[in-house]
Amino acid sequence: MSFNLKFRAITAAAALLLPGLAFAQTTTLSRAVAVSDHQQPAIPRPDQDAAAAAKLAEFEARTGKKPNIVILLIDDMGYGDPGAFGGGEAIGAATPNMDRLAAQGLKLTSTYAQQTCTPTRSAILTGRLPVRTGLTRPILKGDKLTANPWADEISIAAMLSNAGYHTAAVGKWHIGEGEGMRPFEVGFDEWYGFYGAEKEITQEFDQHRYPDLVLDPEKLADYHALGANIDLVAAKKGDTDDTVVIPTTSVEDIAEADLRLRDYSVKRIGEMAKEDKPFFLYHAFMKVHTDNFPSKEFTGASASKYAYKDSVVEVDAIIGDIVNALSDAGVLENTFIFITSDNGPQMDMWPDAGFTPFKGAKGTTWEGGVRVPGIAYWKGMIAPGRVSDGLFDLMDLFNTSRDLAGVKDPLPTDRYFDGVNQTSFLLADNGESERENVYMWMGSTFAAMRMREYKIHTKVIIPQANFLWIDMATMNDVGTAPWLFNLYIDPKEEYAVGHRMSPWLATMGSEMKAHGATFAKFPPKKVGLE
Ligand code: CA
Repeated sequence: MSFNLKFRAITAAAALLLPGLAFAQTTTLSRAVAVSDHQQPAIPRPDQDAAAAAKLAEFEARTGKKPNIVILLIDDMGYGDPGAFGGGEAIGAATPNMDRLAAQGLKLTSTYAQQTCTPTRSAILTGRLPVRTGLTRPILKGDKLTANPWADEISIAAMLSNAGYHTAAVGKWHIGEGEGMRPFEVGFDEWYGFYGAEKEITQEFDQHRYPDLVLDPEKLADYHALGANIDLVAAKKGDTDDTVVIPTTSVEDIAEADLRLRDYSVKRIGEMAKEDKPFFLYHAFMKVHTDNFPSKEFTGASASKYAYKDSVVEVDAIIGDIVNALSDAGVLENTFIFITSDNGPQMDMWPDAGFTPFKGAKGTTWEGGVRVPGIAYWKGMIAPGRVSDGLFDLMDLFNTSRDLAGVKDPLPTDRYFDGVNQTSFLLADNGESERENVYMWMGSTFAAMRMREYKIHTKVIIPQANFLWIDMATMNDVGTAPWLFNLYIDPKEEYAVGHRMSPWLATMGSEMKAHGATFAKFPPKKVGLE
């Protein structure tokens, strides 16, 4: 069924079930207004926009430069892991650095990722939903893409590089390792990291967890033949290939990986701070994606002593080191920092898994899968102590980074952009979100939408065994009516209020229909991950 037909079916079914609530084309309950026909509508905040613009102009006049932008992306960390979000000391893994940055910056309690790694990473870098770019699920060893998804995408790194930034990607990539898909080929001036997820690497060596593979030479040879680069590599824009910095030959190598990545970022921050150009640093941790092996230095560092928790402590310490490096280089006040996770905890690997207070886990569009911690910190520019439940989709980092960097080129009109410019939300002292809706897809199937404190599901993931939210879960229709929850009174999405208690169902149906209509003019790309 085409996207349009799917949406028509959803809204038609809901209208039939709810006589008197026929979905209008437009609704007065949505505060968002069209920006253009190829961009996500946004809530106008003219006073806040003006306040943020004035702050930025004052900053530039004072420093003579555009701000540096640092994105710190943790892998698979749960919403509830940092102390600032309810975990930390209370669950055996103190996170003093994240807590301090949250307290001295803006804590965002409704930050949304996609439900798995590749989709989130591609969405941040392209400002577009994975269903549009074709990067709808993690690229796994042995996957053969039918088209290079990057061939016609423009990354935020490319845009900032063109605007005079030095752009660096450090850490986990996981958005394609074929020719034309690597960081140094899609806009980053430099690249230092790994192409795949931690488990894709450790399963080649860990005979305790994967004895059937590691102890069987024939199977292992077949596995190697799938071909995947597991080494720590580096390259610069213009290179034809990457070069191996440190080969990965053991679990011990991967245990030390995040410290090696830290050393690189810390060194480069010191060097880049001396250049005339501002910099964009995308530092993506390997941890705390399963299988977690804390480095020697951090083994036993958490109160719990579990590998996952030690790894949380390690990641938190590295965040502190990176912020200290910015401070030591004299550029902390010149740098916008955003800290987040690329999806919820992966419960299939429990107890090598994070904590979320919400329902569901990685691989689902329940809150546990997509709601992640969000911390925006900029010394002197973001007022300390702010907390907001305003909606922030990680794709908004694309538009916001463009704005912070003063990118003047308009967005291309031949494709749809789902990100929203949230500069005023983050910088204005009384900033509020400009995003009205967050859309949640499972691959190429629309599943849910959040609007204000409401969330509506048209498909739901149900696990058929405890914890197995990926390996033994099924995607289900919701039955006779969409499932609608009020997340303020029911954050665990346990008791749908639907038409009994909510006058919002029709509005949300209309909003979903409008979202579906964007695919008529801008059809989704397919790259072989469907
Ligand atoms: Ca992930």
